[in-house]
Amino acid sequence: MAVRQSGVAKAPRLVAYASNEVHGCVPRALEMAGLGSDALTRVATDDAGRIDVAALRAFIRADRAAGLTPFLLIGTAGTVNSGAIDDLDALADLASEEGLHFHIDGALGALGMLSPEIAPLLRGIERADSVAFDFHKWGHVPYDAGFLLVREGAWLKDTFASPAAYLTRADTGLAAGGDWPCDIGPDLSRSFRALKTWFTLKTYGTEALGASIAENCRIARALAERIAVEPDLELLAPVALNIVCFGYAPGGVGGDGAINRAIVEELHAAGRVAPSLTLVKDRPAIRAAFVNHRTTADDLDALVEGVLRFGARHSPWR
Ligand SMILES: *Cc1c(COP(=O)(O)O)cnc(C)c1O
Repeated sequence: MAVRQSGVAKAPRLVAYASNEVHGCVPRALEMAGLGSDALTRVATDDAGRIDVAALRAFIRADRAAGLTPFLLIGTAGTVNSGAIDDLDALADLASEEGLHFHIDGALGALGMLSPEIAPLLRGIERADSVAFDFHKWGHVPYDAGFLLVREGAWLKDTFASPAAYLTRADTGLAAGGDWPCDIGPDLSRSFRALKTWFTLKTYGTEALGASIAENCRIARALAERIAVEPDLELLAPVALNIVCFGYAPGGVGGDGAINRAIVEELHAAGRVAPSLTLVKDRPAIRAAFVNHRTTADDLDALVEGVLRFGARHSPWR
């Protein structure tokens, strides 16, 4: 609480941890909080893109020994690059042993909890102190519809509620009611974003949303299987959820992946399919992320066919 008055400069040297696959919003948040992005240690990941828990533990111990104050551990439930899910149970154990706040970035993957098929992959998410997730990604709600769930509502009030004469509460009438939105978040005036999410949940229900999520994951697995048997394509990361990272690799030779950049540009210009481009282990990769309930096997055909056609056109090997 004192930090609200005295600022972070007077606080202990607070440090945080996440994997090197963490989304850019996390270092950005540390910058905005005045701690600086150097306060974040980015821990190595395994071949599946999941944080190395043993290395993480060693960093925390070393930082404490050096007089720093570890305070925050961020796990990712669905990395933006490949959809990888950290071992959330192991992270929850470590956070509790070390007395850290355990936050989960579930922007991309947390809504998998709506599908009985996908939920087991997210085991441990229920142990978080806070979870961020987006209904504007897998929840079919228009931008923006970001959510934060925290274990103790009092933390939000301690952080944000401020007395102000013009916000005086009353027992009855327009100024009645308990907590106001400005008591639990940084905005004073803000739009009613929750409404569109509420309508989506009311109209379709969690079962239909979950079924669509599971279907997107099946489509992603089908694409991965297709890539495995296609001699001119290579899978560049394991498929955990709805994201497939792959590349053009005639005869199994993908080179430095530079050709994938050109292929994605061509696909965008052609307009039939719209994968994005990312880096997997520093190599450009074609990234297909499935969130649309209308995506079918026909779209996979169009994607594979397009990649092979544009790949052959740009190939230095042919
Ligand atoms: C999209 C994404 C974010 C950023 O979320 P926005 O709410 O869209 O700004 C953060 N983390 C992950 C893992 C994401 O995929």
